Parts: sequence; structure tokens; C-alpha cells
Amino acid sequence: MNTQRNQANFASRAPVAPIKEEGVRRSEYFGQRVFNEERMLQYLTRDALASVKAAIFSGTKIDRKIADQVAEAMKAWAISMGATHYTHWFQPLTGATAEKHDAFFDLLPDGRAIEKFGGSQLVQQEPDASSFPSGGIRNTFEARGYTAWDPTSPAFIYGSTLCIPTVFVSYTGEALDNKTPLLRALHAVDVAATAVARYFDKNVNKVIATLGWEQEYFLVDKALAQTRPDLLLAGRTLVGQSAAKGQQLDDHYFGVIPGRAFQFMRDLEQECMLLGIPVKTRHNEVAPNQFELAPVFEEANLAVDHNLLLMDVMDKVADRHGLRVLFHEKPFEGINGSGKHNNWSLSTDTGTNLLSPGSTPMKNLQFLTFFVNTIKAVDRYEELLRASIASASNDHRLGANEAPPAIISIFIGTQLSAVLDELEGVSQGKLSPEEKTELKLNVVGKIPEILLDNTDRNRTSPFAFTGNKFEMRGVGSRANCARPMTVLNTIVARQLNEFKAAVDQLIEKKKLKKDEAIFNVLREYIKSSKRIRFDGDGYSPQWEKEAARRKLSNNKTTPVAMKVLTAPETRELFASLGVLTEKELLARYEVELETYILNRQIEGRVLGELVYHSIIPAVVGYQNQLLENIAGLKEVYGAAHKKMAGAQLALLEQLSEHLQALHQKTEAMTEARKRANTLREVPKKAEAYCEAVLPFFEEIRHHSDRLERLVADDYWPLARYRELLFLK
Ligand code: ADP
Ligand code: MG
Repeated sequence: MNTQRNQANFASRAPVAPIKEEGVRRSEYFGQRVFNEERMLQYLTRDALASVKAAIFSGTKIDRKIADQVAEAMKAWAISMGATHYTHWFQPLTGATAEKHDAFFDLLPDGRAIEKFGGSQLVQQEPDASSFPSGGIRNTFEARGYTAWDPTSPAFIYGSTLCIPTVFVSYTGEALDNKTPLLRALHAVDVAATAVARYFDKNVNKVIATLGWEQEYFLVDKALAQTRPDLLLAGRTLVGQSAAKGQQLDDHYFGVIPGRAFQFMRDLEQECMLLGIPVKTRHNEVAPNQFELAPVFEEANLAVDHNLLLMDVMDKVADRHGLRVLFHEKPFEGINGSGKHNNWSLSTDTGTNLLSPGSTPMKNLQFLTFFVNTIKAVDRYEELLRASIASASNDHRLGANEAPPAIISIFIGTQLSAVLDELEGVSQGKLSPEEKTELKLNVVGKIPEILLDNTDRNRTSPFAFTGNKFEMRGVGSRANCARPMTVLNTIVARQLNEFKAAVDQLIEKKKLKKDEAIFNVLREYIKSSKRIRFDGDGYSPQWEKEAARRKLSNNKTTPVAMKVLTAPETRELFASLGVLTEKELLARYEVELETYILNRQIEGRVLGELVYHSIIPAVVGYQNQLLENIAGLKEVYGAAHKKMAGAQLALLEQLSEHLQALHQKTEAMTEARKRANTLREVPKKAEAYCEAVLPFFEEIRHHSDRLERLVADDYWPLARYRELLFLK
């Protein structure tokens, strides 16, 4: 009899204490724990505030005296809020966040105790960071890396700790984190997009990238999760027979949120409000126990920080509710996985969304400019964009017949396609007055009306235009959005720079008018980026064939997808825009592959343990019961027992068959792992894990799932899908 699973099932029915709402409107306590502009107004001198704002707007340096003032203000505020510690909060290449807490508390030489936090503690710290991945940038013997304050993301208090968002760089200045390249890419796109936006409006001085992520996740009961080493250590179930009821009834999507999940969400939302994370929507997703949470969009760097903070807060709140959040992209086989759509746009300091059509032909030409440049950028760097969302866990989703495929394509809808088709026919060089009028009135001028009734949406597209933003859908639910956002903003920056150069040249050399020059360059971009546009079913096998004909990449696994990072064009792109040096890029290539290997290694080990520690003993126990029964029948009925024990004997045979196979495949998997581990070169090793080890996981799972179906319920030690998947 399996006690742990039974006890867990019993515990999972226990009601959870109701949540107390704060009793005031959410808008009133929004951002209460954030050192935002409102707090700064209260705590900083006017000079200091101006200096911080300039740093946020244009990246100017904050001098030491001002930093001291800001630190003093932050300390006063944080202590008044009950904080006792502070930490530099950063994003090492592990994909998660890291923090090292220091107390404000300090001793003076005479032994008196004080609270201390000055500019030097705010601006820079040197965590002992030798165990974070660096891809060989930082050898452990010179294990020096330091964190430096990012004033563009406000400090906040979580628990009793003042958290200061920081970048993490090596002593020699190389980025060791995900935030540094993101900030550099955002700067590149700001410069490039501002120059182009000024064709249309001279008042534009800054362009920010905006990001609105949509976080999908699963909730499972904590006690039940604890019976599953695979969920705890690998984040997904490595074995598990599908529940009799899955998502086939489509009754979960937007359905009534189960009570326990609802209490969790309310609690979570309150925490988010306090921390200034502007969460807005919550609903059930397609699979049972799958949910989604989305905020109001924000400036991309802040949105990335908020998403990382959110995932951390979710873990902690779930724990209070006896729940566990699964961020893995594919925690259960046979039902939908989770993603994190990244809605992206560009916005000016004059308040214009550059991907939103406007009320005048000029505004619409601006829209078309940014729209077409984005399409062109994605077409040119589709493979790099694919690499930015590759990970061991996301491999189970991309290209696995659900969610977006591993092939990057863009959906813009039939009506915008028609507009682009018309623009393809624009004359070369100067335009006649008639053509200009026609373009302004009937092509460009009609865009806003088109978009208003443009309701056709394509859920299978990995990169869709949705009216006033692009939605990148392949991002993994577990991922740090900084990676795809760094790539997307970098490639758009590159494209806009080239666009600007081409337009300027036509104006100067060919004496074209500005709008004529723009139409001319756009026409060429539309023509040369046609292959990336696809409005059909992205999951269909025909698309795979068609995409191959169009020479679009179809990189199904991480080791394959990552190769593009070593291409000369990629190095040139990142280096010339100042986003990543060659050394930093190669370090990332190594770290991503090493992370891939580690993930598969852990899964392999966990699977081996599950087989030997849990599954085989369960099967053998049940076999013994059957044998005992058969022996008893024989004792009573003699030779006649064979007829009576037919079912038991057949069952025994089936059990042994799968047990042998399970054992044999597990041994073979272990052997394959050993061989992979002897490989020295990281790319080769990752490939070996992908091609020689991973396929065994499926085979082992197959036999385990058959056994789970055959073995009596009482004997099975692991919480079953039907127990994990239907919260009350
Ligand atoms: P769904 O994809 O679930 O149908 P929507 O398409 O309405 O939902 O997406 C809503 C998301 O898009 C929200 O997270 C929102 O913050 C984000 N969003 C809306 N406008 C922008 C924008 N200009 N820039 C970035 N994100 C945006
Ligand atoms: Mg969406």
C-alpha cells in the first residue's frame, strides 16, 4: 500500500484559509513597495531627482554625490517600510535571478550599532560569483564579477529586503548576465528608431521598446507534487499515464477558476500590486490546471524585471497555499504546454505607438515604415530569433505539433497583406502626382479602417501582428524574456539603421522627396521579405514542406538552433551594434549548450532513479501479489487452477514483458549517458544528449506508462495525472 501518495491525496482536499483583501482599492496600494518617482519626489532633493531622471531618459552617469543622496533616501524609505537588508538583484546566465543579502546594520569602530547604506553600496557590489555560468569569460581563479545599479528599473522591497536591480559584469567589463545585453539592445533600437521616427515627427527624442508578456503556468497540489521526484527536480513529469479525461472536452479554457487556484491568484495579485507589477488579466488556459496571467505592458527592461520577479513571487505565494507552480513548457504529456507570449512594440517619448496606424496618411506611412522594417528584420534573422527561444524544456513544445512551430514566420492577416501587395507595385524612383494621391488616399489612407475590422487571427503563427503590436509566441513559459527581447530589438535596430541610410541616399543622390524615398525602400523590403509571411496553418505538415522550399530554417532542437550564434553574420550584427562582443556571444553559446546538457543530465538521472526506486519495486510487489494468488488457487484447485487464473497469468506476462523492456531501456540510457559524458567538446556533448540519450526517455516512458495502467492502484507510488490535474 502506498502511503505517501494516499496521504498526499487526502491532504490535497484540505481547504485553504481564505485570503484577506487589503480593504482598499488596488490602485491605492499599487507600487507601495517601490522606490518610484512618487517616493523619489518625497525623499530626494530636486537636483538628485533630475539626475536620476536624466539617467533613466538618456543613460547619463549619476555622480557619486548624487548616488550617496539616493542611497540615503532609499535607506530611509526602506527602513521606514520595515526593511532590514538590501541586495543587488541580478540575472546571471542561469536564466533565473540571484541575490545576496546584506544587512543595513553595521558597527562603528567604537562598537556602536548603526544602519549603513551609502552610494558605494548602491552603485556597485562584488558578490562572490565564481559559481555562476560565464562560458569561460571568467576563470574561477580570477572570479571577480561585480553588480552595478540599473537606475532605469526602480528598487523595491520584497519581504524585508530592499532589492536593487543591477547588471552583472566581469572585472574586465564583459556582460555575465541577461540584463546587460538587453539594455544595450534597447539603446541600439532607441537610437535607430528615433532617427527614423524623426522623418515623421521632429519632436521625437527617444523611442522605447514596450513589452507585455502573458505568463502561462500550471498549478498542482504541493503534497502530491512531493510524491514526484521528476516534478520536483526536472520540473516535468518524465512518466505518467494520461488521465481518462484530459482537455478533450475543452471545458477548462476561460471556465470557472477552481477555488484553490482563485485564492492563490487573489493573494498573488495583491503581492504584485504592492510590488508595482501591473497585473491585469487572469484566466484558465486550455489544459486542466493551466492558467494565464498578463499585465499591462511596460518599457521592456522593466517588464522583463517584473516577469522575473513575478515568477519568484508566484513560487512563494503558491507555497502558502499548499500549491506548486509549474513553469516548465511541457510538464505533462498529452495536454497543452505553456508559453509566454511576448507582445512587443515601439513607442516614442511623444506618446506614439509606432506600430499603431494613425488618423493621417503620414502617420500611416510611419506605421508602415516600422511594420515593414520589423518584417524585414525577422525575415533576415529568423534563425537567430529561433535561437533566442531555444532551451531543453522549450524543445518539447516548439515543433511538437502544438504551440508555435520551430519555423519562424509572420502572420499579418489578409488585409494588410493586400496593402503590402499594392505597395509592391509602387513605381521606381519619382512618383507621379496621381500615384501619390492614390497611395495616400486609397492604400495608406485606408489602413486604420482595415485594422478595425481585421478580426482574423491566427493562433498557429509564431510571430503575429495583432493590430498595434507584434506578438512573439514561441517564448517559453520558463524563459527570461531578456533573451528574445535582446535579439528582436537588435535586429530591428540593425534594419532601421539600414533603412535610414537607404532613404537618405535616395534623397541625396536621386533627389527624391522623403515620402518617395520611403516608398521606394519599403517596396524593396516588401519584395525581398515575402517568404517570411505566412497566414496558413503553422502546425500543418504542408507548411513544413513549404517552409523548406522557402529556405526558412526549421531547427527543432536546441543544439541545432544554437549553431547560428557562431555564424560570422551573427558576430558582426551584435558587435557592430555594441550589444555583445564576440567573446560575450561565444560565452552565451557555451552557457546555453551547457545548460541544455545539465537539464538532460538531470532528467536522465531522475528517470533512472524513478525506475529503480519506485517503478520496479511497485511492479514487483504487485507481481508477488498475483503470484501468491495463483499459488493459492493452485493449492485449492490443483491442475484446474490454470483456467481460473487465466487473467492473473496473462497480466503477469504483460507485466514481465514491460518490466524487462523498462529495465533494458534504462540500462541502455545510462550507457548512452556515460558515452555522452566522455565527450569533451560542448556542442558534441549537447548533440549526443539530444540524439543518443533523449530518445530513450520516450521509450522508458512508454513502458512505464503501460505498467502504470496494469498495476493495481494501491501499489503505484507516484501521484497520477488525474490526481495532479484537477484542482478543486
Ligand atoms: P491575447 O493574446 O491573450 O488575445 P492580447 O492580444 O489582448 O491577448 O494581448 C494582450 C497583451 O498585449 C497584454 O499583455 C498587453 O499588455 C500587451 N500589449 C498591448 N499593447 C501593447 C504594446 N503597445 N506593446 C507591448 N505590449 C502590448
Ligand atoms: Mg497572446
